[in-house]
Amino acid sequence: MKFGGTSIGSASAMQRAMEIVAKEKNNSIPVVVLSACSGITNKLIRISAEAGDSNLEKAMELSREVKEFHHGLVDVLINDDERRASALDKVDAYVGELEILIKGVDIVGELTARSFDTFCSFGELLSTTIFSEAMQEAGHDAVWLDMRELMITDDNFSMARPLEDICEKNVKQAIRPLLEDGRIVVTQGFIGSTKDGKTTTLGRGGSDFTAALLGAWLSSDEIQIWTDVDGVMTCDPRVVPDARSIRVMTFTEAAELSYLGAKVLHPDTIAPAVKQSIPVYVLNSLHPESKGTVITNDPAMLEGMSYGGLVKSIAVKKGQCIINFRSNRMLGRHGFMAEIFGVFARAGVSVEMISTSEVSVSLTVSESAPLEELVAELRKMGDVEIEPDVATISVVGDNLRTSKGVAGRIFSAMKEVNIRMISQGASEINVGLVVEGDDVEKAVQSLHREFFSGNESSGIFEAPAMKK
Ligand code: ADP
Ligand code: ASP
Ligand code: MG
Repeated sequence: MKFGGTSIGSASAMQRAMEIVAKEKNNSIPVVVLSACSGITNKLIRISAEAGDSNLEKAMELSREVKEFHHGLVDVLINDDERRASALDKVDAYVGELEILIKGVDIVGELTARSFDTFCSFGELLSTTIFSEAMQEAGHDAVWLDMRELMITDDNFSMARPLEDICEKNVKQAIRPLLEDGRIVVTQGFIGSTKDGKTTTLGRGGSDFTAALLGAWLSSDEIQIWTDVDGVMTCDPRVVPDARSIRVMTFTEAAELSYLGAKVLHPDTIAPAVKQSIPVYVLNSLHPESKGTVITNDPAMLEGMSYGGLVKSIAVKKGQCIINFRSNRMLGRHGFMAEIFGVFARAGVSVEMISTSEVSVSLTVSESAPLEELVAELRKMGDVEIEPDVATISVVGDNLRTSKGVAGRIFSAMKEVNIRMISQGASEINVGLVVEGDDVEKAVQSLHREFFSGNESSGIFEAPAMKK
C-alpha cells in the first residue's frame, strides 16, 4: 500500500491513511510505503539550492520550517508522553543531520548530485518515522524499516535504478518474516542507497516505483497506490473538471499514459507489476469507498468491463518546447538522422515526440533542456527554429489500434486550435498533438467532450465520488 504526499500531508490525512491500513490488515498484512508529506520534497530541494548558493540563513530558516511541520504532526498524532518525546527526538535527529549537510554544502559552496539525493531523502525518513510511531500508538504492531538498507541501487544519483537481484534477496529476507509474524511494515518510497552506503533516489514521483518493486519481489496479491483522486481518470481533473474515473485499464494503456505525462503514476511503476501480472489499484485516500481504477491484464477482469469506445484517457504534458530542424542536405542522404540525434545524446537530452519529412525534423524536448547548446550544435547542420511554451496532448486507448476514424474525430474537435505538430506512437495506442501553451485547456476540453460525452452508461467510466 503506497500513500502519496497529499494522502499523508496533514495529521488528519495521516489518520485517514492509518484507518485504511488498519482495515486492510483484516484481509492481509500490508507493507506500507510512504512518500514525503506533500510539499516537503520540494522544500528540501529549495534548501539544497540555497545551501549550494551559500545562502546559509535562508537554508536554515527553511529547515526550521521542516522541523516545525513534523513536530506539528507528532503533537496531534501521538498522545503518550514517552512516545511523543521519543518521536520528537527522532525528528530532531533527522533535522540535525539535515543541518549538518546544509552547513557542509554551504562551506564547500557546491551542491553535488550525491548531496542532493541526501537532502531529498529526509522527507520520506520523517514521514515514515511519524507514521509508524502513530500506528504503534494506535495499538498496531507496526515496524519501521530503513529502505536504504534493502533497496541497493546503481550510483546514478537522482535517477538511480535498483540492482534487482540483490534487492529482491534483501527484501524477501527482511520483510517476509515480519509479515508472517503479522507485523505491518512501514517504509520509505523513493530512496535507496549504493552498495557503499551513499543515499540515492529513484526520480521524482519514485515512491510508486518502490511500491511496485516491493509488490513484485514479495509476490504480493495486489499493489495499491493511494492518492488524492478517484484513480486514473479520463484526463487530469485539474485540466478537465468533469473528468471521470476509469474503472479498468490494461497495463499497456496505463504505462503509455504515465509516460505521456499523467502524473498519477510514475512511468516505471507498471513494469515490475506487469512482469508478474500483479494487479495495480489506484485508489482515493480521501474517499476510500470509491472503486478507483484497476490496472490489469487479467482477461476475466477486462472482459467484465469491455469497452466499445475508442479512447480511454487523454494525457497532457506542459512545459515543452518544439525544435524544428530543416536541411536540404537530408534529401536522399543516409546517416543524417543519426547525426541529429547524436547532438541530443551528447547533451543528455531526452527527445519526446518526433515527426519527420524528407528534409525536416520536428521534435519536442522539455523546456528545461539546454536549448542554447542544442541550437548551436544543430545550426552547424541546418536551419533551426524553436517554439517555446507548447504542450503535448496524447489521446490513448488500446482500441485505437483497430479502429477507424480516430484522426478525423481528433481534428474536428481541434477546429479552433492551432496544432503545431502531430505524431502517432509506434505502439499504435496513442495519437500525440502539440499545441501552444495558451491553447491547452481549450484543446483538451474539446477532445474530452468529443470522446467522452455520451459514455456515461458504458460502465467503465464513473463520475468521481468527490471532486478535487
Ligand atoms: P501522489 O502524491 O499521491 O503521488 P501525484 O500528485 O503524484 O499524487 O498524482 C496525483 C495527481 O495526478 C492528481 O491530483 C491529478 O491532478 C494528476 N493527474 C494527472 N493526470 C491524471 C489522470 N489521468 N488521472 C488522475 N490524475 C491525474
Ligand atoms: N517525495 C518524492 C517526490 O516528491 C517521491 C514521491 O512522492 O513519490 O518526488
Ligand atoms: Mg506521485
